[in-house]
Amino acid sequence: MKPSSAPDSSESRKVMFNADKEKDFSTWFSEIISKAGLADLRYNVKGFVVFREWSVLAFNEMYALLERILQRKGHWPVLMPALIPEENLNKEAGHVKGFVPEVFWVTEHGAGEKFEQRMALRPTSETAFYHMYALWIRSYKDLPFKRYQRCQVWRHETNATRPFLRSREFYWIEAHCAFQNEQGAWSQVREDMETTKEFMHETLGVPFIFFQRPQWDRFAGAVETFAADTLTPDGRVLQQPSTHYLGENFSKPFNVQYVDASGAQQYAHLTCYGPAISRIFASVIAVHGDKKGLRFPFKVAPVQVVIVPFLNGVNDSKVLAYCEKLRVRLSLKFRVHTDASETRAGEKFYFWEMKGVPFRVEVGSRELKSKKAIVFRRDSETKKEVSLPGVERFIEKTALDYDATLRMTADKAFKNNTVNVSSWDELKAHARDGKFIRANFCSTAMNGVECAEKIEKELGLSVRGSIPFREEKTFGPCVACGKPSTKVVYVGKQY
Ligand SMILES: [Zn+2]
Repeated sequence: MKPSSAPDSSESRKVMFNADKEKDFSTWFSEIISKAGLADLRYNVKGFVVFREWSVLAFNEMYALLERILQRKGHWPVLMPALIPEENLNKEAGHVKGFVPEVFWVTEHGAGEKFEQRMALRPTSETAFYHMYALWIRSYKDLPFKRYQRCQVWRHETNATRPFLRSREFYWIEAHCAFQNEQGAWSQVREDMETTKEFMHETLGVPFIFFQRPQWDRFAGAVETFAADTLTPDGRVLQQPSTHYLGENFSKPFNVQYVDASGAQQYAHLTCYGPAISRIFASVIAVHGDKKGLRFPFKVAPVQVVIVPFLNGVNDSKVLAYCEKLRVRLSLKFRVHTDASETRAGEKFYFWEMKGVPFRVEVGSRELKSKKAIVFRRDSETKKEVSLPGVERFIEKTALDYDATLRMTADKAFKNNTVNVSSWDELKAHARDGKFIRANFCSTAMNGVECAEKIEKELGLSVRGSIPFREEKTFGPCVACGKPSTKVVYVGKQY
């Protein structure tokens, strides 16, 4: 029986990929999504996309890596229902105000029969988790209580949607933790920041900066919000995982209480953490891609090794048998695909480089005779002849260097990404630099908002926040209003 067709349809191979990522990132991004078969935008609900094989395989690897980190740090997985009754959402005033404008409501079932109350398709699950935490948490002995779920959430975005970056349905993990006191919750916030570093930077090679968001830009219902911002190749700021200290804001209305050691009832201190897999995927594409297309980090590549046989009509069956032996062997350790299609080898090279496969193994009559294979690296575009028994070992070893090289290249591009400004004119002059702009800011809440709004309205820049847990010394008056400044903030053009 012919195997199911691989996610490399014959028509997609014929399309040339030619957008220049450095000069025109936006076109490059759209083109790579369609040509590498990452997503299909032709689904007939606006703002919703179909994620295709190549994305789903990478998502799965990303989920597995991140969940392993979370579980190592004491989180346990659960799966919450997708429907949240309106009464849950209404319990925390700030939360309901922040999320209701974007909620998809389920109001009826079957032949138009109404539910007693509307149900939200979860836009985020605090109000589902904490409803249950009130039932599950009893004593201080139950704390800390750390749970997470992997799921998709739905938000009716009114801004223009873009696959992976901003869509009405996205895939993420949300972790919700409960502690006896403030101190425990704050150490969780720091742990979430470490987790982000381990996953985004050390594992996927995507550099970022963590900011403490300004008071007016906190997660709805949070006491404090911390979010990682990275830069796209065209210098736009892209928000990545965020972690939130919720204090008792949710534990009080949801009655998440425990009995402390002295027998007294106490409210738990809560935190939540939300790394969006689909958006992190966008950063991976954006940061590592090049003029030839995608470059996946080895750890999350949908296919890590592609075997390309040279078929010239002479030794074909022998070459294919050799390749099959090699595939079976390599599959014990890696995700491997053999491209035995009737396409010219050069076209196959081009195609799999565009799809971002880290290693290509080339086999022809010559390699058959010498019991060798040619191994090509997608990052450095170099080839090496390796003898057959050593191919696995070679790839295993080189893969570490491959991921490190991607990360170092990304770090180099991310370096020198801040510019200091001390006046409005300077801010204006640097508005299109595509960097984080470091500026002085007056931070009384209302003034802050006014000054942030002025920056947003007149220059199209957004105030991302300040460096957390570190007081940076100001170096001039407020960049927007000229009044005495109290804080150094970072400003950038938001995606
Ligand atoms: Zn000001």
